[in-house]
Amino acid sequence: MAARRPRPCLVCGALTRNASRCDTHQQQWQQQQDRTRGSAHQRGYTQQWRTTAARAVARHRTERGDWCPGWRVPAHASSDLTADHIVPKAAGGTDDPENIQVLCRSCNSRKHAQST
Ligand SMILES: [Zn+2]
Ligand SMILES: [Zn+2]
Repeated sequence: MAARRPRPCLVCGALTRNASRCDTHQQQWQQQQDRTRGSAHQRGYTQQWRTTAARAVARHRTERGDWCPGWRVPAHASSDLTADHIVPKAAGGTDDPENIQVLCRSCNSRKHAQST
């Protein structure tokens, strides 16, 4: 069995036995990934919110099925459901179930487009 052949780093082209980057650039890339996660955290989209949102969607599905209540449109069938805050976090809304609304992705983006 042949040993794994070195590959050129995606950034500088130096040969490396890493998956896609030399040690230096692998490290830089990792730090960049950490920063991206950090900014998502600052925007309020924490792991906790994702869990809460997923749970809200799951509960909605159990109770009403793949059904969007509609935002300024009649309720309609949709399997692409997302959870969103009724009162935005920026306006003091919480992650409580009472402040969470389940809408399909297109209603949700329409709502966001009109509320800004
Ligand atoms: Zn490199
Ligand atoms: Zn909808």
